[in-house]
Amino acid sequence: MELFRPAGPVGLSVVLPVYNESANIGPLLDRLLPVLERITESYEVVFVDDGSADATLAAIAGHHAREPRVGAVSFSRNFGKEIAIAAGLDHARGDAVVIMDSDLQHPPELIETFVAHWREGNVMVYAQRRDRDDETAMRRGFAHLFYRLFARFGEMPLPEGAGDFRLIDRKGVEVLRSLPERARFSKGLYSWIGFRSVGVPYTVEERAHGSSKWSFRKLFRFAFDGMTSFSTVPLRVWTYVGGAVATLALAMAVYFIAETLLRGPDVPGYASLIVSVMFFSGVQLMSLGIIGEYIGRIFAEVKRRPLYVVADRVGPAALGRTGPV
Ligand code: UDP
Ligand code: MG
Repeated sequence: MELFRPAGPVGLSVVLPVYNESANIGPLLDRLLPVLERITESYEVVFVDDGSADATLAAIAGHHAREPRVGAVSFSRNFGKEIAIAAGLDHARGDAVVIMDSDLQHPPELIETFVAHWREGNVMVYAQRRDRDDETAMRRGFAHLFYRLFARFGEMPLPEGAGDFRLIDRKGVEVLRSLPERARFSKGLYSWIGFRSVGVPYTVEERAHGSSKWSFRKLFRFAFDGMTSFSTVPLRVWTYVGGAVATLALAMAVYFIAETLLRGPDVPGYASLIVSVMFFSGVQLMSLGIIGEYIGRIFAEVKRRPLYVVADRVGPAALGRTGPV
């Protein structure tokens, strides 16, 4: 594959994670490239192919032949969107980096507004969803609950409705790249790094082709990762639950002793026995599970594996910055 080195520094990079999106690459670039042309000549489009099994990479290579500023890094397998974004930030060279989905749910035209806010001195410009009525009420409900819980127990609040669609100045990109954690909950990381930020409201569009790659299970996992990465409340709460349960058990013991002394031994004590045994085993298993979650996270961190493995590259990204691997 042909290599391309843009003359001079790159002004604006657009990072797009793609997973089996071959049908969306063409329509996306048709809308994205004119927008970028209007903003600057010095841009690059960095696709991160997250181990697609379809013709996604071939489609990107086809576009690269016509527009050398379009390129890709391709993973050896599916590593997940969060990791794909991390790889995109490693390879993007722009003074500002835009992250967006490749299914046209994120309107490319908004990038012009992003750039305007960036030129005013904002390090982070994030798109904020107006509504999520393409989603089921249950999914919306869970999302809302998650933000409420995160605001209450997390280390810092997350702006509601803000996703990965955003522009980050080089300064912020470098800080994000320096964060070593493996369990990457980018929404949390974006807030954690701080800096001057501004939200731009927008309306999510319909997915152009294909279906969402997020199952309910994946979303739950994602929320759980977010919580356990940015809060130790799930770990600490068991001290209090344990204390409360133990106090209750003690009160019950006192009651049973008194009853035995007053009325004599009571043979049918099984019910209370079984109930309390089961209750305590439940509480213990739950707290063990929570501790396990954190230990699993520590384990993942101490293994110090690279975040991703690059199998192939197309175009400018081939000359990209030195990321892991
Ligand atoms: N994606 C990815 N790896 C995955 C799942 C998704 O790179 O394992 C990409 C996908 O190709 C798309 C973006 O992440 O560009 C958002 O995915 P999707 O549209 O499925 O998520 P939703 O819009 O439903 O949140
Ligand atoms: Mg989508």
